[in-house]
Amino acid sequence: MNRFKLWSGGLATSLMVLVTASAAAQGTGGAGEWTMTGRTPDLQRYSPLTQINKANVKSLKAAWSFSTGVLNGHEGNPLVIGNVMYVHSAFPNIVFALDLTKEGAPMIWKHVPAQPAEAKPIACCDLVNRGVAYHPSGKLFIELLAGDLLALDAKTGKQLWRVPNADYKTGSTMTNAPIVIKDLVIAGISGGEFGVRGRVTAYDVNSGKEVWRAYSTGPDADVKIVGDANPNYASHRGKDLGVSTWQGDEWQHGGGTTWGWYSYDPQLNLFYYSSGNPGTWNPDQRPGDNKWSMTIFARNPDNGEAKWLYQMTPHDEWDYDGVNENVLVDLTIGGKPVKALVHFDRNGFGYTVDRTNGKVLVAEPYGPVNWASKVDLATGLPVRNPQYGTTSKKNTEGICPAAIGFKDQQPSAYSPQTKLFYVPTNNICMDYEGVEVKYSAGQPYVGAIVRMFPGPGGNRGRFIAWDPTVGKAKWEVKENLAAYGGALATASGLVFYGTMEGWLKAVDATTGTLLWKFKTPSGIIGNPMTYLGPDGKQYVAVLSGVGGWAGAGVALGIGPEDPTAALGAIGAFGDYINISNAGGTLLVFGM
Ligand code: CA
Repeated sequence: MNRFKLWSGGLATSLMVLVTASAAAQGTGGAGEWTMTGRTPDLQRYSPLTQINKANVKSLKAAWSFSTGVLNGHEGNPLVIGNVMYVHSAFPNIVFALDLTKEGAPMIWKHVPAQPAEAKPIACCDLVNRGVAYHPSGKLFIELLAGDLLALDAKTGKQLWRVPNADYKTGSTMTNAPIVIKDLVIAGISGGEFGVRGRVTAYDVNSGKEVWRAYSTGPDADVKIVGDANPNYASHRGKDLGVSTWQGDEWQHGGGTTWGWYSYDPQLNLFYYSSGNPGTWNPDQRPGDNKWSMTIFARNPDNGEAKWLYQMTPHDEWDYDGVNENVLVDLTIGGKPVKALVHFDRNGFGYTVDRTNGKVLVAEPYGPVNWASKVDLATGLPVRNPQYGTTSKKNTEGICPAAIGFKDQQPSAYSPQTKLFYVPTNNICMDYEGVEVKYSAGQPYVGAIVRMFPGPGGNRGRFIAWDPTVGKAKWEVKENLAAYGGALATASGLVFYGTMEGWLKAVDATTGTLLWKFKTPSGIIGNPMTYLGPDGKQYVAVLSGVGGWAGAGVALGIGPEDPTAALGAIGAFGDYINISNAGGTLLVFGM
């Protein structure tokens, strides 16, 4: 049946189409659009759309699909700007523009960036990319794995400029979605497993010219810290802690890479992101707090200057990268309004932080953490369990969470209606042994043998609803495999998430009750999103194509024989090769 016939439902529908199309055409981020990675700069992944609701979601059906032609892990989500959907792929990071006004959404253009195949083995955990960013002048930006930041004309797909930001030959790659703030595009860097010194860099959207660069480690001048990094905590006060909390020149290849999600508060004019593990996973080689790895940064986007920093895991012993999303929400805590930032760290704690000054208000475990008993709110420091220190004990067994965290990059969603976070998690623990390693540019700088395995209960994932004002889970859904894709919350009280088996699920935001599911061709590690089509109807879209760290066995063809392969992920997911095949398909659902 012709889909256009279904759309022509009379005058009311036609009028709605016109209004929607003209409002959307400007790319202003209207209710029906999805113009940046988390829909809004606060990264809430919340849509005001309500056509698909608890009563009718059971009739949600596949409307159309699209293959990217790439069979590595597909993280991130497409954007919808006006009547065009922009889809990205894993390496070689192809960008597609699809025409939503036409039946089946045919391609308007595709851009295949030239990239050297030699960059592929330099990526730690499959060849993922987390998406594109858009500037209202009609420009798209994507970070290419081999290290270039690429600007495209959104109308034609033609290259506007391309500048080097990383260099795979030195072990630095790029995988995260950049953020556009005003007339700047800010890019991060990957390579925490290669001794890369983390940093963020801002470029002029029109010329690609570098405007500023701020490092994660080193002297305050390089990190762009003025005064104390965070006056709330003694451990964060003092000069040049990015040097003095390391031994010798270890800070120069100290990791702290910046491959996670970026959020922005236009009122405070601060953007937020965080840094990954310190260089070499072997903690014995780097005594000290190793600042500013594992740290949340609040920076002024105009000049990069830091407003505050907060380090979650000083002297990391477990590869608990701090890069997970920092979601900006306005909460009431103890009767007082709080401009909050909520962060579910790989180390297993869910943090609620005052985003104006970096003071931690709530920090509670969102899974069965055992490396620390709690976070002391007076000092801001985790209270470690001495049983699990590798510094005193070379081979440590049974640490929870595993290096992959109770949550990795898979972003949570927040509903201002229920005031709850919806968090896809891993339930994985590990054995960890530090081994001596020497730094050599472009070579792996891991220095640990890791074996992961399912956490308590045997289920490898949970999807939870979390109250950020008290730090407690309201409900949870157990998943056999990790819930390794992102979440989407809608104003109609629905929450969508994908599973590694390949199910896209819709649950009741209040109770977690399953209301609908669909089996996609591969495992889902991407993020569901929703938009209003030119026909005035609501759609839900998600990328299906397993990979990333958890799915590396399938994406890279690694068998289950060695549980320490893929940096230990095979120990937890070795059977997965018999559950899912690689893929790279966008699926779109409608009523
Ligand atoms: Ca890492």
